[in-house]
Amino acid sequence: MKAHDGMYIGGQWRPAAGPDTIAVVNPADEQVIAHVPAGTADDVDAAVRAAREAFPAWAATPPAERAARIAALRDVLVARKDEIAETVTAELGAPLALSRTVHAGVPVLVAGSYAELAASYSFEERIGNSTVLLEPVGVVGAITPWNYPLHQVVAKVAPALAAGCTVVLKPAEDTPLTAQLFAEAIHEAGLPAGVFNLVTGLGPVAGQALAAHEGVDLVSFTGSTAVGRQIGATAGAAVKRVALELGGKSANVILPSADLAKAVSVGIANVMSNSGQTCSAWTRMLVHKNQYDEALALAAAAVAKYVPGERVGPLVNAKQQQRVRGYIEKGLAEGARLVAGGPEAPYETGYYVSPTVFADVTWDMTIAQEEIFGPVLSILKYEDEEDALRIANGTVYGLAGAVWAADEAEAVAFARRMDTGQVDINGGRFNPLAPFGGYKQSGVGRELGPHGLSEYLQTKSLQF
Ligand code: NAD
Repeated sequence: MKAHDGMYIGGQWRPAAGPDTIAVVNPADEQVIAHVPAGTADDVDAAVRAAREAFPAWAATPPAERAARIAALRDVLVARKDEIAETVTAELGAPLALSRTVHAGVPVLVAGSYAELAASYSFEERIGNSTVLLEPVGVVGAITPWNYPLHQVVAKVAPALAAGCTVVLKPAEDTPLTAQLFAEAIHEAGLPAGVFNLVTGLGPVAGQALAAHEGVDLVSFTGSTAVGRQIGATAGAAVKRVALELGGKSANVILPSADLAKAVSVGIANVMSNSGQTCSAWTRMLVHKNQYDEALALAAAAVAKYVPGERVGPLVNAKQQQRVRGYIEKGLAEGARLVAGGPEAPYETGYYVSPTVFADVTWDMTIAQEEIFGPVLSILKYEDEEDALRIANGTVYGLAGAVWAADEAEAVAFARRMDTGQVDINGGRFNPLAPFGGYKQSGVGRELGPHGLSEYLQTKSLQF
């Protein structure tokens, strides 16, 4: 795999400040495929200075021109989609088909949506005797996780650029090659020097330095709740804007009138996709007590199609593999029953976990409360709709969810009562313009579409 041995700062690849590197490992065969520099506070400082220098001119660039550059970026992502898919597969382990459609495909949609929004958005509004100007917040420090290596980057960088902000990105240490490819795409698209900067490195070193840097006006973080809480505290102490996209434990509520077979099979597909490493995955399936046994049989048949190494990739690293296997052991220890899978790794090599389905899960068990981030589904039984609602809302998270019913209105009525940021009705369809983000401890702020753009803007009111 091709890797840069420097940082992309001020429009060029520059040598890293320190000698340390990070090994990038292919999780399917555990082989080291590349090394990238482990950035330090000095690299972050150089990148923030470059972003600050570029900010006034980029903020003053007419939105239509910013839109044209983002459209050019989208075109480069299209032209290089095969390379992107292969890189994501190499460092994340996702099956190539998933890398092509989702990991390489979705960022094209999102970048395209912001090219259109930048051109059409009204950066000025009239309220009574005031004109309200919507101005870019400034320099954005973006910190991203490894689970969707390109999507997480584009979901922050595209709206930030559309708003007129400049960016320093610190991508996850497990997937830096996709981020380097993205920096190449930015360069090829002709973005002015310093508008986007990349510092690879470790979270507690480069990430921490970026979140705490006084030249950063807004920190946009996606990752674990533990780190998010720390970043929120750092930003709060500095009175700095912060957006946090954190964990989830979403409920897939199957109401008695629903098409049970369809709801179960889509529910399994949702959890197994990306090896369960999706923060919005519906990891708790809620089934009425009268349909419970039938649902278990359907789930067992559906999950058998998800063969590790074929449709399901490995987890990203050994630590995640151990963590997920630990949760499966905990589920068994707390009295849940295996319908499929189990804690044993299916292969000796590669960080694979067996697709696992648990029955007899109660809402208070660890596997029903904590985010597992692996191919593990818990099926819970409910007595009636009120019970289903209590279970659905009974975690500290509120990122996503699903409701199934014969009648759309019945599903919508239930969805209105869920404490969560996004709900798919009878399967739904991905909408790159719909706001994405959490209620409760799933986060602060929204990404995607016009709501995602407004996170990077601040208002100035002029009275007449
Ligand atoms: P993580 O929090 O460990 O890391 C995320 C990013 O933060 C990485 O770039 C990491 O280097 C950096 N980081 C780590 N420690 C830091 C520190 N002290 N200061 C600054 N930066 C630091 O999370 P992860 O293991 O990479 O990702 C998995 C988690 O992310 C899961 O809990 C998942 O739910 C969550 N996630 C949430 C969303 C969402 O949109 N809500 C999306 C994807 C992942």
